[in-house]
Amino acid sequence: MSTTYPFEHIRAQPQEFALFKKALPSITVAMPEFFRTMEIANKSIQQKNMFGNPLGIRQDLGFENALKVLLIACFNDGLLTDRDTAIKAIEVFRLLTLKWYAFGNKLDSCLYFGYFAYSCHAHAAALFNGHLKQSEFLAGGAKGRLHEPDIAQLLAPTYSNAWYKTSTGLGDKLHPIAIADADITKTGLPRPGYQVHFRHSNMFDLRAPTFIETDQVETPLIRDAKVIVSCPTCKQKCRGNLFKQIEITCPGCKTTWKQFTS
Ligand SMILES: [Zn+2]
Repeated sequence: MSTTYPFEHIRAQPQEFALFKKALPSITVAMPEFFRTMEIANKSIQQKNMFGNPLGIRQDLGFENALKVLLIACFNDGLLTDRDTAIKAIEVFRLLTLKWYAFGNKLDSCLYFGYFAYSCHAHAAALFNGHLKQSEFLAGGAKGRLHEPDIAQLLAPTYSNAWYKTSTGLGDKLHPIAIADADITKTGLPRPGYQVHFRHSNMFDLRAPTFIETDQVETPLIRDAKVIVSCPTCKQKCRGNLFKQIEITCPGCKTTWKQFTS
């Protein structure tokens, strides 16, 4: 059976790799090994699934080292600076992994990253916490945040903070991301929100955040065959005719978006 992951079709523009190489030289050197070890680690998970063995023996070989090297590269290139948290580091790694994949690298590597960052989120956060301080030191102290318009473009956000709730899950108003209820867990810690883990479907979507705050999620208000939802840009309440899927243009700021209502 072949499955298509929701991010699988993403490809970078031809000129983006040159930009990436120029703006992020240390990261460019570290990424191939990071991807190589994740590809091997993913084979180990598949073996576990097929034969029911505990964690594959090859899983950790090299991955943690490659992660440390990439972490140092992130400090060197200014994507991470001092006082950045483990969650921020996971977010940076997620964007780098997605972009590296978009340059034509292996899907299997991304699937391991999904398993690591979403399904084993607590473990990933602990690992990053353990290595952050040391990496900053090894990089010779933080260099300050890289401010480059090209990088903002290359590593542009892949999700918004305007989500809607339906009877089956969560959707992003501004990006084509849908996450089923079984793939998230509602939690009060560290903040009220939803931990995104994909543990039910294993259909990792590397465009999705690992955590969505409750106050970023709106349940459409339905009244007399009308639906009321707020604009993802200016928050103005907008009203439309009730359909399962609606397209709304905000009368205030003219943002247009599509969403489901149930
Ligand atoms: Zn608006």
